[in-house]
Amino acid sequence: MKETTFSLNLETSYTNLPESFYKPCLPTPVASPDLILWNENLANELGISYSIPDLQSITNLLSGNIIPQGMIPIAQAYAGHQFGNFTMLGDGRAILLGELAVPEGGKVDIQLKGSGRTPYSRNGDGRATLSSMLREYLISEAMFNLGIPSTRSLAVTKTGEAVRRELVHEGAILTRIAKSHIRFGTFEYTYHFLDTEELQKLAQYTIDRHFPEIADSENPYLSLFESVMNRQIDLIVDWMRVGFIHGVMNTDNSSVACETIDYGPCAFMNSYDPSTVFSSIDANGRYSFGNQPGIIHWNLACFANTLLPLIDSDESVSIEKAKTKLDIFPDRFESRYWKMLGNKIGFSEVDENDKTLISSLLNWMKKAKADYTNTFLQIEYASEESPAIYQEVEFVEWKQRWSDRIVAKNLDRESVLSLMQKTNPFVIPRNARVESVLQSARLGEMEPFKELVKILASPYARLDKIPFPEEETPESDSIYQTFCGT
Ligand code: AMP
Ligand code: MG
Repeated sequence: MKETTFSLNLETSYTNLPESFYKPCLPTPVASPDLILWNENLANELGISYSIPDLQSITNLLSGNIIPQGMIPIAQAYAGHQFGNFTMLGDGRAILLGELAVPEGGKVDIQLKGSGRTPYSRNGDGRATLSSMLREYLISEAMFNLGIPSTRSLAVTKTGEAVRRELVHEGAILTRIAKSHIRFGTFEYTYHFLDTEELQKLAQYTIDRHFPEIADSENPYLSLFESVMNRQIDLIVDWMRVGFIHGVMNTDNSSVACETIDYGPCAFMNSYDPSTVFSSIDANGRYSFGNQPGIIHWNLACFANTLLPLIDSDESVSIEKAKTKLDIFPDRFESRYWKMLGNKIGFSEVDENDKTLISSLLNWMKKAKADYTNTFLQIEYASEESPAIYQEVEFVEWKQRWSDRIVAKNLDRESVLSLMQKTNPFVIPRNARVESVLQSARLGEMEPFKELVKILASPYARLDKIPFPEEETPESDSIYQTFCGT
């Protein structure tokens, strides 16, 4: 058979930035690469395709075993506030292969995660476990399909090598696709360790790549801040809409392109409780479900701080201008948050009466430990066959008040239900189900994983019955734990 060579035509605009922003770095070859997952839909969107004779060649590339001539892989420098403490970080286990121009327009980063040590690895081994890369693949794709900005997952390649954590695991490399990997922490690194000229170059690069519409604004750096703030508000409101808990919202895990990034200890909340935390290292609940808005505001303050030297030559003027923007956050967040909650009960606009109605539903959900996802489905569907909790007087009465509101607001029921169906997912990655398919994958059985990926590809489709009712018991939340950096 004729050997063909799969190739990717990648650009490297990031290397036009000064050398202090990155270090050229090759992946470390692995013993026995095996491409076990390939995201055909995403590959098509990216205009990448390969045929069977290319398999060896693509496997070699995505495992980091062979880097084609002309490609200049790099590890990117960044810092970050981790649980509030400022630290130097950088890509410790990821390597950027380059940027791919997408047929639809724009370009994306192609990164290998788990590809070996880099100059920023500190004491880490630069590797990742199969489970954690599969988990990122599953949840990032689920987020994308939920309509929430997210990095994507193109492929998972087993390395054929062991990765030592508390136990010994199989190793794997994720091929991650992102609008870019510029983090709040990239700006913090530049502000703290480089000079103003370099900071200006990073800001300009970011504007050109992600916010070209503000290039000619009166103060592009202030506009950059406000644009990022707006997109981050939309992102976190979207997380709150589906019950997503990121779990480790350190500033290095906040993307300037405002995609959900770095899927570590993230998980979805089952029963509604704003204090829900799954991450084993988040003892104080800093990154709990309900704290996410406050934390992104805090992260945005860190980001704004890094832009001060660019906003105005007079520092006090800069601070004043940045503060004025940052102070818009609470009202802007609140209004979008309430609108989203309004959408969840089918109302496109919300007034004070609606907010009271929504608050009483949330209060009941918390008290009754009702499932966040299913409660909104039960507003659509509830019948005598619904679980007992939805026969409770308080819920039945709430539904009556909701129906009365539909009449009072002069809405037609069809459009209310149609908005609910677009806003409320029918399926989410349930924690127990995610763990179960990962367990099968560890035993070499990939079918349950692929089946779940398929179910989560159409999360708003109304099916005859809720797929995993056994996983909605509140007890499952209280014992579930997730882990960082595995
Ligand atoms: P994360 O918790 O995934 O956001 O990672 C935080 C920082 O730790 C980043 O700088 C990572 O590159 C680095 N890191 C995480 N795991 C490893 C590892 N196994 N080897 C080297 N660096 C790592
Ligand atoms: Mg990270």
